[in-house]
Amino acid sequence: MGNRSQAGGRGAAAIAAAKALSASRLIPGLGSPTPVPGTAETALFLDLDGTLLEFAPTPDAVQVDAKLPALLLKLHAALNGAVALVSGRPLAAIDALFGLPQLAAVGQHGAEIRIPGEPVQRATIEPHALDGARTLARTHPAIANGVRIEDKGVALAFHYREMPGAEPLARELAADALQSAGAGFELLRGNCVIELKSARIDKGRALGALMERPPFRGRTPWMLGDDYTDEPAFAMAQALGGTGVIVGPARVSVAHGALADVAAVHAWLERFAGI
Ligand SMILES: [Mg+2]
Repeated sequence: MGNRSQAGGRGAAAIAAAKALSASRLIPGLGSPTPVPGTAETALFLDLDGTLLEFAPTPDAVQVDAKLPALLLKLHAALNGAVALVSGRPLAAIDALFGLPQLAAVGQHGAEIRIPGEPVQRATIEPHALDGARTLARTHPAIANGVRIEDKGVALAFHYREMPGAEPLARELAADALQSAGAGFELLRGNCVIELKSARIDKGRALGALMERPPFRGRTPWMLGDDYTDEPAFAMAQALGGTGVIVGPARVSVAHGALADVAAVHAWLERFAGI
């Protein structure tokens, strides 16, 4: 069985199971130590916010640790290019943060996929599919109460990090927007954000797509992430024989491994890179 059929079969089933994990079921529990794998057979998939980067009050305010770009380049060399940044942020925002356009990257949860040396793959949706949701959002009480809309073109994100008390209103807005968008869309709950997006786009499918191509093909995927939005990618990595690693306070997750925080991720990557 090749990677393609695995991604289409076991991977899809694993992603569906991961999505069935309700965010509300992410409860404290016990994590497990995660060994550092060898570099020769490994592909690394790294979430940004909450995994490589500490959270900031707003997405624009995050700081990239000065050592991080060099560490990523070292891993890129050690793994023969099989390192991908995987984020809900757009590709342009990922590149603005790291300045490493030579790295493989997944933007907008998989709506954008970059394999170095190839044109960026961009997901499309029916052009007017989100028009109703946009109009509804502009006049919704949630916006007046501090919920911020980020229009990603193929998705709408409703942020409430600046206004944590606005979460119930953000949920109400997201549910109304989903109803307006109709079939083929879903809500993706993240850390202080709810995203309305195509149900065909998630980090798990993106990881599966990269694993079908060199330099990832034939390697064992490790996916590091901190959020509910990373669960489909943990599931896909594990369906392909790899490991998901949940970062942060231990919780219910499909991931088989755990790391305590961003600092632990950096230390793990440094050991991995032989630093
Ligand atoms: Mg994250």
